[in-house]
Amino acid sequence: MKDVLDSPVSLLSGVGEERSRALAGLGIQTIRDLLEYFPSRYEDYRIRDLTEVKDGERVTLAGTIYGEPSVRFYGKKKSRIAVRMVIGKIVVTAVWFNQAFVKKHLLPGKEIVVTGKWDKYKLQIVVSEMAEVDSVRLQKRGELAPVYPLGGEITLAYLRKLIQQALEQFGGQLEEMIPAPLVERYRLMPRAEAIQTIHFPPDVERGRQARRRIMFEELFLFQLKIQAHRRINRQQSEGHAQPVPLDEVRRFIQQLPFPLTDAQNRVVKEILDDMTAPYAMNRLLQGDVGSGKTVVAAIALYATVKAGYQGAIMVPTEILAEQHLSSLQSLLAPHGIQVGLLSGSLTAKKRKELIASLQMGLIDVVVGTHALIQEDVFFRKLGLVITDEQHRFGVEQRRILRSKGLSPDVLFMTATPIPRTLAISAFGDMDVSTIDQMPAGRKPVETSWYKHEQFHYVLEQMRQELQKGRQAYVICPLIEESDKLDVQNAIDVHAQLALYFSEYTVGLMHGRLSAKEKDEVMQWFSAGEVHVLVSTTVVEVGVNVPNATFMVIYDAERFGLAQLHQLRGRVGRGVDQSYCVLIADPKTEIGKERMRVMCETTDGFELSQRDLELRGPGDFFGTKQSGLPEFKVADLLNDYKALEVARQETARLVADPAFWEDAEYAALRDYLQREGILDGVVFD
Ligand code: ADP
Ligand code: MG
Repeated sequence: MKDVLDSPVSLLSGVGEERSRALAGLGIQTIRDLLEYFPSRYEDYRIRDLTEVKDGERVTLAGTIYGEPSVRFYGKKKSRIAVRMVIGKIVVTAVWFNQAFVKKHLLPGKEIVVTGKWDKYKLQIVVSEMAEVDSVRLQKRGELAPVYPLGGEITLAYLRKLIQQALEQFGGQLEEMIPAPLVERYRLMPRAEAIQTIHFPPDVERGRQARRRIMFEELFLFQLKIQAHRRINRQQSEGHAQPVPLDEVRRFIQQLPFPLTDAQNRVVKEILDDMTAPYAMNRLLQGDVGSGKTVVAAIALYATVKAGYQGAIMVPTEILAEQHLSSLQSLLAPHGIQVGLLSGSLTAKKRKELIASLQMGLIDVVVGTHALIQEDVFFRKLGLVITDEQHRFGVEQRRILRSKGLSPDVLFMTATPIPRTLAISAFGDMDVSTIDQMPAGRKPVETSWYKHEQFHYVLEQMRQELQKGRQAYVICPLIEESDKLDVQNAIDVHAQLALYFSEYTVGLMHGRLSAKEKDEVMQWFSAGEVHVLVSTTVVEVGVNVPNATFMVIYDAERFGLAQLHQLRGRVGRGVDQSYCVLIADPKTEIGKERMRVMCETTDGFELSQRDLELRGPGDFFGTKQSGLPEFKVADLLNDYKALEVARQETARLVADPAFWEDAEYAALRDYLQREGILDGVVFD
């Protein structure tokens, strides 16, 4: 359906070829683009009461000209015009610089509206803009006038007029898109009225209402795309309903060494629901370090094996692979489940054997690095893929699996908690499960912040822990983009500490070590043979040494909050009280605030929320990979409630068959069509 709003802006009078090009530079090509080019702010032309105006304020005043203007010229181009003006009972002076042409408009007794800077002591306004009887401006006197982002040859006055013209000619074509019951329930201004009002609000409150309506619409349409996409994916996915014997899974859970937390129970149910449904699961499981994701993974793997499938779990490093292997083995092997390891360091022969047993179905669950999903690895019947700590499992991996005739359920696990608003935006096409609760009895890591000059004091604290038989991590400064300097730093720090703690063994770990060397160091640290581990951030992910109770992080201000939190998660894994010391001399207020936040909370979700507030949503992920949508009006930080409402309402909407058929939703379906969401979808 061709909509007149999709016509080029050149349809309007006053838009020639050149202006068309300039407008295109602002992203305005169609009438719709123009109408949806919203003001970034308003210039306030509301007439003020003189007694309330502060010195130096920009203000709009209305009054009557009293007497003749006086004009003075300086040189060729400079001039000053002054005229007296009566406002109420006060006489003030209005002054124009270098605008000699206004003189002819300044007739005694005439009413004028002037905008400019107020000088309270001289009772004088230096006028920058004037409105009078025969000017266009007069229509807008007393208003809030829109200010738009400009560029090229487009001036503000031109754009205001053009939008005004477009509203008059085409404003009537603006259809309501949000279903009527929702417009009513959320008290939304009708669409056409909102677009008129956001450009030319009669007052602040109406402007606010218009903005609210448009914000809601943006979030609603954004969520509609996501929900429609999800629904279509589910209907068309080649996934299968795994016949999971739920009773057996329940028994398995009861036999675990601890009861699950409520949060774990909830996410287990969400995952099993997906696995037993006929679509392919695409779910993100987020939970703070130590919140117990591994056991949830084990339950899902148990379920897939009992349903007659194989499971695979992918991790970023070999160290993690081995850790997972041993924890999964201890949970699953007693139930007759064969767990194997496929890592890059296997010999060719071992690798071949393992692949063969996978293909024959002799191995039920395989743990591995990305080597797992390679062209020469075949499964007999792969039902579930879990990835831990990274999102490198993407379209390409799915394609490889599909080429082998597999469409497994996929679960992504991450310990980097993301505030819910961002999670449902950035990972919009995934379902999100959250473990937002720690197992009972955990002692939060006590965190403190010291300046570099207090380092000796920190070392004494560390010695006390070592004397108790505990172990410590020392995380070295992060030097941006220089792996080499990171390593050098670690080597220096190691040398110093080895000297200082001569009665203990101080180990060293950094990215330049071979996988084998790293492994050895970690083994020694795990076994308690190394007491202090000096490390670059390679120790970050997943390492589990419960006897380590002390962590020092050098130059903590160089790390992001999320990363600091990850690092800190390496301690506090046992029953003893653990400590984390940040060494930092942050230069900025935000830097100091970040250190304080780290000391105040150990809740990863709260931290990420605070980080978001400190940095803003754009920076939160780092701009490039953010995947966050750009909104014209909505703001994920402030409008998160509306986002949640929009999510719920759109999910309900697309689940209703009427949405896909009834005429009243045609505008929304057209919108999805325009956005390419319905490509390849056949309605029957
Ligand atoms: P994550 O992978 O989320 O960082 P883990 O799965 O490694 O966390 O769990 C951390 C520790 O907590 C493990 O030692 C695990 O056995 C234990 N744990 C997990 N769930 C519970 C629970 N519900 N109650 C007590 N301990 C638990
Ligand atoms: Mg883990």
